[in-house]
Amino acid sequence: MMKEFDFKRIPAPLLLWYNTHKRDLPWRENPTPYRVWVSEIMLQQTRVEAVKEYFARFITELPDVFALAVCEEEKLLKLWEGLGYYSRVRNLQKAAKVLVSVYGGEFPRDLAALKDLPGIGSYTAGAIASIAFGLPTPAVDGNVFRVAARLEENPTCIADPKYRQYLEERLSAVYPKSGEACSAFTQSLFELGALLCKPQNPDCAQCPLQDLCRARRNGTQALFPVMPEKKAKRQERVAVFLIETPEGFCIRRREEGVLRGMNELPSALLQDGETPEELLNEWGMYAFKEVARKKYAHIFTHIRWDITCVWVRAESAPFDTYSLEEIEDSISLPTAFKQCLGILKEV
Ligand code: SF4
Repeated sequence: MMKEFDFKRIPAPLLLWYNTHKRDLPWRENPTPYRVWVSEIMLQQTRVEAVKEYFARFITELPDVFALAVCEEEKLLKLWEGLGYYSRVRNLQKAAKVLVSVYGGEFPRDLAALKDLPGIGSYTAGAIASIAFGLPTPAVDGNVFRVAARLEENPTCIADPKYRQYLEERLSAVYPKSGEACSAFTQSLFELGALLCKPQNPDCAQCPLQDLCRARRNGTQALFPVMPEKKAKRQERVAVFLIETPEGFCIRRREEGVLRGMNELPSALLQDGETPEELLNEWGMYAFKEVARKKYAHIFTHIRWDITCVWVRAESAPFDTYSLEEIEDSISLPTAFKQCLGILKEV
């Protein structure tokens, strides 16, 4: 049985540390609910450094929920191109439409109402409510789990939903009362996890919570947090085609599988013994000249694609075609396919 940990002791030293150590991040200037929301959704699964540029472009093009709600899908996907997990941006737009139609373009100042919006879970709702509205609502992400699990040497797996609930309750009870401090406390927990309490080699000597931390005292930092077992990724062999015709390169919409609904360079799973040429034949292509081919891998959350990219020239196209400028400037193409375009520069 784990001995109870006194979370009341963490806000004061953590806020003091945060005041002098926080990073200047673009979304921290003028933290409106819209800016906090967009940044938090982008930061899921993506590094801070990579998000900075995307965030600046997104906010310039779509400065508020009204602009987001009416943005054309292709432009929206292009703004997200390279970030992956495209359901995130589709949900952003769905939620923007609800905010416009139900709330007149304002965000509700209420945790339950925020959680009801598409794509907004407990974490994002807590981040918006505390950072933008100054409410005492925790936002428990991977950083916060790591810090808290080490502080109290909590042996519960972070995938257990009861653990999230437990931690949200514990943290809620010790939140500061005033708005500014609520916002700072949420961000101080993120910041500690990102800068000092890192997954490997935490910098405990610099940590403002070192005197309270059981994992530091017992040298057990590497044992916490307890993570779920990693499942092996499914491996698939995929052929991706760069089909060049006098009119341009073929692009089509994916109708099934991973990245369904996104644009792609024509592709298909390769069955055992099947060759890329046979796939082209299935699309009615018999007269073509291979220019080059290369192999690369692309890793999704649960799947690994071993890709054979084949560049062919043909007189006519089995799918819609676009110029290279159009593809680069206005057609969104997920990274798994975009990598294939690199072949053009290598030959
Ligand atoms: S003392 Fe070390 S393990 Fe404990 S919270 Fe601080 S950085 Fe993390």
